[in-house]
Amino acid sequence: MSAPSTTGHVVAVIGGATAGAEVAARLADHGCRVVVFEQNPRPFGKIEDGLPRWHAGLRNKEYATIGEKLARPGIEFVPNTRVGGDVEFAELCREWGFSAVVLACGAWRDRPLPIDGAEAYVGKGLIYQNPFIIWFNHYEEAGYAGETFTCRDGALVVGGGLASIDVAKVIMLETTRARLRERGVEVDMLQLELKGIPKTLDAHDLRWEDLGLEGCTIFYRRRPEDMPLVEIPDGADEARTEKVRLTRRRLLDKATEKFCFKLEPLSAPDGLLVEDDQVVGLRLRRTRVEGGRVHPTEETYERRGVYVISSIGSIPEPIPGIEMKGELFAFTDWDFGRLDAYPNVFSVGNVVTGKGNIVASRKHAGQVYEEALASFLGLGEDGHEAEAAMLEHETIGEQAEKIADELGTTAPPSPQVVAEILERTRRRQDAVGYGGSYATWLEKVAPISGS
Ligand SMILES: Cc1cc2nc3c(=O)[nH]c(=O)nc-3n(C[C@H](O)[C@H](O)[C@H](O)COP(=O)(O)OP(=O)(O)OC[C@H]3O[C@@H](n4cnc5c(N)ncnc54)[C@H](O)[C@@H]3O)c2cc1C
Repeated sequence: MSAPSTTGHVVAVIGGATAGAEVAARLADHGCRVVVFEQNPRPFGKIEDGLPRWHAGLRNKEYATIGEKLARPGIEFVPNTRVGGDVEFAELCREWGFSAVVLACGAWRDRPLPIDGAEAYVGKGLIYQNPFIIWFNHYEEAGYAGETFTCRDGALVVGGGLASIDVAKVIMLETTRARLRERGVEVDMLQLELKGIPKTLDAHDLRWEDLGLEGCTIFYRRRPEDMPLVEIPDGADEARTEKVRLTRRRLLDKATEKFCFKLEPLSAPDGLLVEDDQVVGLRLRRTRVEGGRVHPTEETYERRGVYVISSIGSIPEPIPGIEMKGELFAFTDWDFGRLDAYPNVFSVGNVVTGKGNIVASRKHAGQVYEEALASFLGLGEDGHEAEAAMLEHETIGEQAEKIADELGTTAPPSPQVVAEILERTRRRQDAVGYGGSYATWLEKVAPISGS
């Protein structure tokens, strides 16, 4: 069992990845006990199942960061446990006795393609980004049992963000490797991604045209310079904004040249072309962008392709017990991800920021800890009562007091309730075969290289 809490507080964290590990570590460092519930065997979230595996360096660095944080004394890891399935959310918040519950569950559901009836064609020529990237990141592992896909030439990708470029890159890297293999040339995926397709072909005295590939196309409803590959800083003037737009164009040109995919801007999906119950293409509607807004026009056109991959963003998976507003959780406070029905709930990372970005998730988790959770739990700088810190730093104290008034504070559970929480936690850990050591567990569930 982990080190005893010095504050008496026990906090549940739902999701153990970038944001979840960050908030768990901060809580543990300040004397709380933390129970981290993670739906997957490994706690790496979108680092493992989103970020394409050619980012090997970044991925390993983030794995180490998450692992180091979750292994800290005071943290209990509960893998293979889905909140809203294996454990009920309302029960966790209201019955277990936790001081607070932190949602760090990210965005694991693809935003549905906005075409009536499209869902009926999933698996019949319509593919969503999340399962596709999960497949790409794992298919070479022995024992991979998830959904499988085949990369084929002439795919149509609906999207516009960084993730849709990653989807196009996967298609291009894999179809190029397959064509080269037919010619007896074996190229490593990581090397191909690093050098790019034209340079790699050059090294083998080949040109793109020699492969006979058409390439895939991304359809984007805005202009190339609108693609959010680089953020426009808040308050940027016109000159700065124009500079960012230029950078975006350059990055996009570089990506299309290096990976040989195409971009069709000002095109919004309008319908699926279906033959024999199979998607064979898209009907697209031309758009114009005015004053930052997308306006559909009267003009439509059709494109046939081997299949359609929808990559238009990820949204939170609904959790029974949490009210939704449209496709998002119905937070009543978007700074700290609070829910009216559960006064002890806070949220961190992508689930509330909606930003698919590692740094943004980690930073948000830190902010929610510092600006809300610490105050809610009455924690000071080093685990002492917040009041003690307030006396020393009057101004900071006043701010903390104001936030505390707005958020309320909570008392730690009684020692008996703490013992019950830890006993329930241990029972769940036993049920999933977790022996109590994070390092031993990770060794047990490490992927086995299949090639
Ligand atoms: C294709 C793609 C490419 C990307 N490329 C980059 C990039 O180049 N740079 C960058 O900075 N970012 C990139 N990102 C985004 C980045 O990986 C994520 O935004 C970031 O890792 C999110 O961290 P998080 O902790 O907020 O959420 P997640 O990583 O999504 O973590 C949520 C965790 O909660 C768990 N969980 C979810 N629901 C439950 C539940 N009900 N019960 C228990 N556990 C649950 C999940 O299994 C997961 O471990 C990319 C994302 C994608 C999809």
